[in-house]
Amino acid sequence: MKPGRAATFGKSAAQFLVGCLRQTIPAKQRTDPNAADLLEAVKQWQQVFEHTPVMYFMVDPAGTVINVNTFGADQLGYTPADLIGRSVLDVFLAEDRATVRACVALCLETVDQSHTWEIRKVRKDGSMLWVRENAKAMLRANGGPIVLVACENITERKEAENALRQSEAYLAQAQELSHTGSFGWKAATREITWSKETYRIFQCEEGTKPAIPFMLQRIHPEDRLAVQQTTGRAAREGKDYDHEYRLVMPDGSVKYVRAVARAMRDASGHVEFVGSVSDITATKEAERRLRDSEQRFRDYAETASDWFWETGPDHRVTRISEHSDTITAPAGLIGLTRWDIAPDAALEPEKWRQHRAALDAHVPFRDLVYRSKDRSGQPIYVRTSGKPFFDADGAFLGYRGVCTDVTAAIRANQAEDALRKAQAELAHVTRVTTLGELTASIAHEINQPLAAVIANADACLAWLQRSPPDLNAARRSVEWIIEDGRRAGDVIRHVRALAKRSDIEMVPLDANAVVREAVALVQREMASHAVSVRMELSSALPKIFGDRIQLQQVLINLIMNGIEAMEDVLDRPRELAIRSQASGDGAMQMSVSDCGGGISEQAIDRLFTPFFTTKTSGMGMGLSICRSIIEAHGGRLSAIPNQGRGATFQITLPLHQEDAS
Ligand code: ADP
Repeated sequence: MKPGRAATFGKSAAQFLVGCLRQTIPAKQRTDPNAADLLEAVKQWQQVFEHTPVMYFMVDPAGTVINVNTFGADQLGYTPADLIGRSVLDVFLAEDRATVRACVALCLETVDQSHTWEIRKVRKDGSMLWVRENAKAMLRANGGPIVLVACENITERKEAENALRQSEAYLAQAQELSHTGSFGWKAATREITWSKETYRIFQCEEGTKPAIPFMLQRIHPEDRLAVQQTTGRAAREGKDYDHEYRLVMPDGSVKYVRAVARAMRDASGHVEFVGSVSDITATKEAERRLRDSEQRFRDYAETASDWFWETGPDHRVTRISEHSDTITAPAGLIGLTRWDIAPDAALEPEKWRQHRAALDAHVPFRDLVYRSKDRSGQPIYVRTSGKPFFDADGAFLGYRGVCTDVTAAIRANQAEDALRKAQAELAHVTRVTTLGELTASIAHEINQPLAAVIANADACLAWLQRSPPDLNAARRSVEWIIEDGRRAGDVIRHVRALAKRSDIEMVPLDANAVVREAVALVQREMASHAVSVRMELSSALPKIFGDRIQLQQVLINLIMNGIEAMEDVLDRPRELAIRSQASGDGAMQMSVSDCGGGISEQAIDRLFTPFFTTKTSGMGMGLSICRSIIEAHGGRLSAIPNQGRGATFQITLPLHQEDAS
């Protein structure tokens, strides 16, 4: 439509209609009373058209607004003149314009037929309204079509609908999230309605009519009767109900549900219920787990010989576990601090200062051992560990922890210490005793170099007395004197070391050197017993880690036993073999083998027992001390009868860590 035509048709639909009539009724007829009535009627209709609360639009096939009533234009924030001549699409959202075109096209295709649709319109200020449009195409007198559209503002209804839809969606979502469905139940008609979530809880296909037999079938057989009784009574008495029961799902799994219903009466006085049904399986499971774990801890606590305590922010005891098994758990401690209880608090100020610093810093502590008293007042040793606990805001509330009576363990440790000391004393005594037995050998060891010193000194004098004195030869003799003097000095130092009660000194050692030094001390003893020694010492042996004196004591003991074992051997050479070798797996072996009488069946198990001896003057302590020395070195000492004659005593020792790898 051209803008000119719009101007011709006037500013509003009413004027347009009047204009049309003026054109159709000839001038003389307008004075005709009938024609005048008609004109009057049309004028009245103009008013109705203009102000009726319906938006009217007349649109040509191209979509141009031919006319619009004042109410319609006003609703959109325009005047009719603003809209006439413009495309009707301007008052629609861009994304809805294709729909509008299609609707107009449909009307044009189906002249005289009414069509209805709901669509959004845009006001001049950009705001939106929902309208229901009723449209119809008509043929004008000139045969051209025109589309008449009447629109009703349905924004409020739409908004209400949307709000309802949204709140329904929220409700459905909330039901899904909380695993809570809703239901309605008209007791008289047995009619039941379920929400989506209720269908899901019962695992029933949505849309099927919920029925009591189906529900009963889902309910756990053990709970069925109770459910029927509860709901039956509620229906009879018109009372609310709230109960829990189990469902057995098609896959056999069990679900816990809680149903809560409010009773109401309809207009005719019939009872009906509105309620909720919640899947409480997870809660039940959590409750069960909590109960189990609580029970588990109670069982532990009640069967433990330990006792549990709790202290407040001032570190005073607020709670102490009481159970009959714990006879040693001290009584009457409530209100006291740990340092009030411990009699050693004043004696060990540093230990307690550190402990109190840990408590004040609110950090956990472990294995604090202190003295206390049991219920009968007997002194006990207690070991305790604790950790701080706090309230939800992080405020310190105190400590919780556990105490153990460690008296027995501490006494055992003390006894072990005493035993170790006694053993060391004994080892020392036996060592000195052995040295006493070895006096002849030792004297010989020293005598030999001394004799050489004298001989060399004599020779030196002789060389000096020559004319001219042979100074070179004299110097050589003096050098030998020095060498022999050193040898004698070494022996004495060694004997003193063995005789001295010295602390154990663990150092990396060359095992072969240890063997050689020990053998040197018993050389004479072997010679006097006509015993020959064969040394098979493996070269390139990694170092061991140990105390030289103790290991030599072991070797001397084994060698002396070997010599004694061969005392009666007269028909064959008395030979002692001393071997060393690496044994793989980070260890090495040393052994002393003799060809004496060997070990009897009865003796084999008892050799290492203290005071076991078969000798008239024997003490029977040697092997037991040897074994404890070797075991203290992390090794083993064992006796093995030889294939032929005699016995082998084998020492296995771990290699020094650095050399072991
Ligand atoms: P003692 O030498 O004082 O008897 P030991 O503990 O050294 O104490 O030895 C205990 C016993 O073990 C000896 O009395 C002896 O019967 C036996 N025994 C030790 N070494 C040998 C050996 N090489 N051959 C046979 N028996 C041995």
